[in-house]
Amino acid sequence: MTMPQTPALFLSKIERRYVQGETTLHILRGADLAVWPGEIVALVAPSGSGKSTLLHIAGLLERPDGGEVYVGGEPTTGLDDAGRTRLRRLDIGFVYQFHHLLPEFSALENVALPQLIRGLPRREAESRAAEVLGFLGLGERLRHRPAELSGGEQQRVAIARAVANAPRVLLADEPTGNLDPRTSDYVFSMLVALVRASRLAAVIATHNLDLAARMDRRVTIRDGLVVSLD
Ligand code: ADP
Ligand code: MG
Repeated sequence: MTMPQTPALFLSKIERRYVQGETTLHILRGADLAVWPGEIVALVAPSGSGKSTLLHIAGLLERPDGGEVYVGGEPTTGLDDAGRTRLRRLDIGFVYQFHHLLPEFSALENVALPQLIRGLPRREAESRAAEVLGFLGLGERLRHRPAELSGGEQQRVAIARAVANAPRVLLADEPTGNLDPRTSDYVFSMLVALVRASRLAAVIATHNLDLAARMDRRVTIRDGLVVSLD
């Protein structure tokens, strides 16, 4: 196997501070993280240590106070909001702890929508959506709305939505955090299989050490830095 030349995602010397009244919370103090195509990194750290902050910065949802975020080798901090939004649509999939599906739309439409926004023809977007939903075991649920799905099914639709758009990077913030252990285990297996099949680069924040053990490597956040746990 030849190593790719460029990480799919490279966080370099990321700084993030939150000022609250008299105090400044220095959450990230020069954090570095490189993630290669096809690699799944578990981000395991206690609540409040900055996992969501790091993922939001990596996902271009939040700007760092210092450092640079490279997506596919391209620096992003110089981009304006339109440029960031465009890159986020093209290259980044985000899965939240809560599914954030659109309630009025079916599973199929929820998954097809980001692809339509990206400019794919409806037929192609829907066939890809159906394929990914089928892969995740939801082939019989395409026309269901989120309220007609179980928690685990909703979360699988959210994963399908993030992945169907064929991003370079998948970021997941405790994606199975509000599911029961068995459902969580099942959804997580699906997520890993999908990431492996599509050669995405993924960072998955989780509290669950058993799930983390099934990823390629494990990192934590310590004193504002990303540190290897392996
Ligand atoms: P985690 O996801 O690991 O639980 P977060 O990244 O959500 O941690 O938060 C890290 C720390 O930063 C927490 O102490 C939190 O209170 C603080 N924080 C996060 N977002 C903000 C914000 N917008 N304003 C002020 N403090 C924040
Ligand atoms: Mg969090």
